Amino acid sequence: MAENNKKNNHYKISDNDAGFEISDEFERFNQINDIFSRAFWDNSVRNDLSDAFFESHRVQPNSKKASGFKQKDFALRNAAWAVSDTFSDRSAHTGKREGFQSWMENDALIANEKLAIDDIGKFSNELKQIAKLFGADLVGFIPIDERWHYSKKVNTIKFEPVSNKLPGNFSSVIVMGHAMDKDLVDTYPSALASSAAGLEYSREAAIVTQMTTYIRSLGYEALGSMNDTALAIPYAIQAGLGEYGRNQMVITPEFGPRVRFSKIFTNLPLKYDKPSHHRITEYCSNCTKCADACPPRALPKGPPSYEVINKSTIKGIKKWSANCEKCFDYWTKLKTDCAICMRVCPFNRDFNTFSGKVFWKLATSFLQPIALWWEKKQGLSKRLNPSTWWQMQR
Ligand code: SF4
Ligand code: SF4
Repeated sequence: MAENNKKNNHYKISDNDAGFEISDEFERFNQINDIFSRAFWDNSVRNDLSDAFFESHRVQPNSKKASGFKQKDFALRNAAWAVSDTFSDRSAHTGKREGFQSWMENDALIANEKLAIDDIGKFSNELKQIAKLFGADLVGFIPIDERWHYSKKVNTIKFEPVSNKLPGNFSSVIVMGHAMDKDLVDTYPSALASSAAGLEYSREAAIVTQMTTYIRSLGYEALGSMNDTALAIPYAIQAGLGEYGRNQMVITPEFGPRVRFSKIFTNLPLKYDKPSHHRITEYCSNCTKCADACPPRALPKGPPSYEVINKSTIKGIKKWSANCEKCFDYWTKLKTDCAICMRVCPFNRDFNTFSGKVFWKLATSFLQPIALWWEKKQGLSKRLNPSTWWQMQR
């Protein structure tokens, strides 16, 4: 009981800090209801187009004449995904799609000798540097919070829910952010743009494996995870890497919404980070650019709510939720993923440029109304023509 109270207290403080509003209706999300799992077992989602969507990532699809959907665009996309695909295929015959519907296996033995950690703060800073050495762009540490863990994961042969109990005793989560290439993102929607996602999944697979091997070699447990096992977004927010946006993405001070997240569950003693506050969620309350630009109108224009749109919506969290069925249906028509809502976001900027710095200063201060006014005047940002992207490479 005392342990439970302690846990609840931790949740309360953490939720306050992170800006989470969670009702008694809250239920851990069952990954079988994730739209990418439903696309295999739920006939209200699965159709010829959804089958062709997945097939196109492995077999070169018939290219189109449209810029961004030609043979080279699909070829680059599929090549960018290749390392991630290799990892996710290696246990596929056992029903585990690593990185997506199952955690990342790692055969590296846990060293018998356990590194003595006297100064947790110093060790934590050093570990962040190691993660960056391997290629992570952002790193944060947070206590494990099982609410974000799927109640069940998915056997990808039978497409059935199976136990998601972690194989070990973990106390902490290392959350890593992986920045996507801005020029590629600016070509969304296109097969070319999806190379930005594939590149980061491939990098994630390598970085997570390197990090878990490093930690296990120090004598501690470590389990790597990409999109599998637990929701990355609440963990990234708790770890102070960014704030939740209307487009359902974590908006970061370094890269705006152009970030993917991976995580590592470990029993290392770590100095935890805290949620950060830059008024980004407040900005989203007064902006609807992502929702306005979404072709199938899958994003909400109103305030955050507890509305359960369909079985792919998590229950009991007050937030902006997309209609994943509409969103994925649009992806299948494109034969590639869409992230128009990432591209048009005013935080999709290079914050190292003068204009990027000015926007950040205004948007995250009491001068936010000026940034909102300016952005409204500008309208939706234009897509970078994929043909122009190819010419830029020469
Ligand atoms: S990814 Fe595309 S379809 Fe989905 S919510 Fe964003 S803009 Fe809409
Ligand atoms: S486009 Fe506007 S509302 Fe949407 S995530 Fe970006 S800032 Fe928030």
